[in-house]
Amino acid sequence: MPELPEVEVSRQGLLPYLPGERIVGACIRTPKLRHDIPAGLANRLTGLRIDAILRRGKYLLFDCESKRGGGWLILHLGMSGSLRLVPPGTPEKKHDHFDLVVARTTLRLRDPRRFGALLWHEGANVDAHPLLAVLGIEPLSPDFDGDWLHTVTRRRSGPIKPLLMDSHLVVGIGNIYAAESLFHAGISPLRAANRISLERYRTLVPAIRSTLEASIAAGGSSVRDYVHSDGGAGCFQLSCAVYDRAGAPCTQCGKPIHNIRQAGRSTFYCTHCQR
Ligand SMILES: [Zn+2]
Repeated sequence: MPELPEVEVSRQGLLPYLPGERIVGACIRTPKLRHDIPAGLANRLTGLRIDAILRRGKYLLFDCESKRGGGWLILHLGMSGSLRLVPPGTPEKKHDHFDLVVARTTLRLRDPRRFGALLWHEGANVDAHPLLAVLGIEPLSPDFDGDWLHTVTRRRSGPIKPLLMDSHLVVGIGNIYAAESLFHAGISPLRAANRISLERYRTLVPAIRSTLEASIAAGGSSVRDYVHSDGGAGCFQLSCAVYDRAGAPCTQCGKPIHNIRQAGRSTFYCTHCQR
C-alpha cells in the first residue's frame, strides 16, 4: 500500500513535468473508484493550467487555477494505485482508470483494487474538502514536535502505537514507520500515550521524522525510474530494525524481536530495548 513517502516521491517525480502545463484532455475509464468520480470531471479539467502539486497526508492535490475560477483535482492512491508518466497516445492496459493529458506527456493512474480516489474541489480552499478537513497534523511540518504530541496525548490512555497511526491526530505514519520510530525512541508500542514523558516525546518525534525522511530519500534517489518505468508503488525498502523481523536478533541487544497483534495490526518490537 502506498504510504506517505511513496506519495511524496510520486509528487516530487511529477514536479518537473506538470506544473505550468495546461491540461489538454482527460480520460476517465471507470465511473467509480472508492468514491464516484464526479460526472463531467474531464470537461472541467480540460483547458485549466496546473499551477502546483501539493500533498496533504496521502492525498495528492493538483492546483488547477484554483485562485482564478478553477479548483483542485484530489487524487489518492488507495491500496494499490500508482502513477506514471507515459508518452501521449500510449495504449492503456487493464486497471488504467484515468489519464491527465498535457502537451508533452500523459499522467496515468493505475489502480487494480480501485480503493483510490479521484475527486474535484471547486474553488481555492481545498482544506475545506470533507476528506481533508478531518486530517491531523503533517508529520514533516515544523508544528509537529515533541511538545505538541505531549500536549495532545495528556488524556489519551490508549497505547501509543495505534494513536500514532490515527490520521485524525497525525497523518501518514503507517505501520512500518510507527514500529521503526518507536524502536529508535526506545518506547514500547504498548505504553499508554499519557504515561510517556515530554522528554521521551521529544525523542520520538525526531525519530518519526527521520524514519519518514529516510524512506523518502530512498525513493527519491530513484525518482525518475519511479514515475517513468513500471510505476510500482512498492514500499521503499528501509533497512528495518524491527519491522517484519519477528524472532530475529535485535540490532541493539541481540534478543529476539517480538511480534504481537495490536488494534488488528502486526506490531514488532524489542521487549528489552523498548519500555
Ligand atoms: Zn533490543
